[in-house]
Amino acid sequence: MIKALYPGSFDPFHNGHVEIVERAAALYDVVVVAAMRNPQKAGPLFSLEERKEMIESAISHVHNVEVVSLSTLVVDLARALGAGVIVRGLRVVSDFEAELQMAQMNRRLSGIDTVFIPTSAEFSFLASKLLREVSSFGGDVSSMVPKVVADALNAKYGR
Ligand code: ADP
Repeated sequence: MIKALYPGSFDPFHNGHVEIVERAAALYDVVVVAAMRNPQKAGPLFSLEERKEMIESAISHVHNVEVVSLSTLVVDLARALGAGVIVRGLRVVSDFEAELQMAQMNRRLSGIDTVFIPTSAEFSFLASKLLREVSSFGGDVSSMVPKVVADALNAKYGR
């Protein structure tokens, strides 16, 4: 049995993330999606607990998936879960440099390999940061995020 860990900030979770979860769930026996604190990203929009609840709701149609949220090192969580692999999504070439470095660091720390799943072209422009920006200025991102996230963004920005 191979358990995969899909870690990320997911602030907020969007349709590109949903697709990676669906595809990882078809490849592995169990996928654990972990909403984590990214020290390089200050001032999150949603709390870890809010993100966990939104992810649970957004991927309730995928049955071999669990969701956790915590503030720890990815490899410590992977070890604690007994994960055999870390999954990350890749959008564009510019993602690759940082992702490669992180994958190499995580493998050095834990021996656990990272598998990259390339996004479908229709989602390659989606980024949580851009969605936060567009939404904060009143743009409608409801076609790019799960309904639970669209509702939470509207509530956050008083719409
Ligand atoms: P981070 O974990 O770097 O803080 P995110 O929460 O934005 O970043 O992303 C979590 C994971 O989802 C990363 O592996 C990222 O590459 C991937 N991802 C982000 N946006 C997309 C997308 N549009 N399509 C596929 N994968 C994505």
